[in-house]
Amino acid sequence: MTVKRGLLIGRMQPIHEGHLQVILKILDEVDELIIAVGSAQKSHTLDNPFTAGERILMIGQTLADEGVDPSKYYIIPIEDINTNAIWVSHVKMMTPPFSVVYSGNPLVQRLFYEENYEVEAPPLFNRTLLSGTEIRKRMINGGNWEKLVSDKTIELINAFDGINRIRHLYKKEISEL
Ligand code: ATP
Ligand code: MG
Repeated sequence: MTVKRGLLIGRMQPIHEGHLQVILKILDEVDELIIAVGSAQKSHTLDNPFTAGERILMIGQTLADEGVDPSKYYIIPIEDINTNAIWVSHVKMMTPPFSVVYSGNPLVQRLFYEENYEVEAPPLFNRTLLSGTEIRKRMINGGNWEKLVSDKTIELINAFDGINRIRHLYKKEISEL
């Protein structure tokens, strides 16, 4: 029997309930899922506050808490390369073979389509609230970000001092008098 393996790629800054719902849905459709953590080299910026290692822990512990069998998925960091024409090869180099790609991103869809992959656009759950951008905004403004992520993600972000980190990064540099 051939294993049907899918790929989902996202920066997951941080993983939120939308990602979780879509991961659970895809796991019903494939034998194994590769969760690719994009822009893996980035951290300590307002758009990408967490390291790849921190994001991998958030994803793994969130799925463990949901009771997902760890033999059903791989979490693989993927650094950016700024050459779209060879990006699919770059992803393939880092991952087990896969046949179906789940992405809502038109560029990602197009690049895999041109390499003859089956491409599916997964449904978006409550997209106004369930987006990394909204969560990071709430972290800065003191809004309720906790409501939009898993308990394990809250624990880990607190352990990483994540809220102070993103607020510190948000401060303007104090100019000399
Ligand atoms: P950001 O605002 O930082 O871009 P994001 O919420 O868009 O964060 P990404 O890390 O960019 O999350 O994740 C990319 C992929 O995750 C999307 O292409 C989409 O397939 C999936 N995804 C993101 N948000 C949701 C959601 N609310 N429901 C279902 N899938 C989602
Ligand atoms: Mg996005």
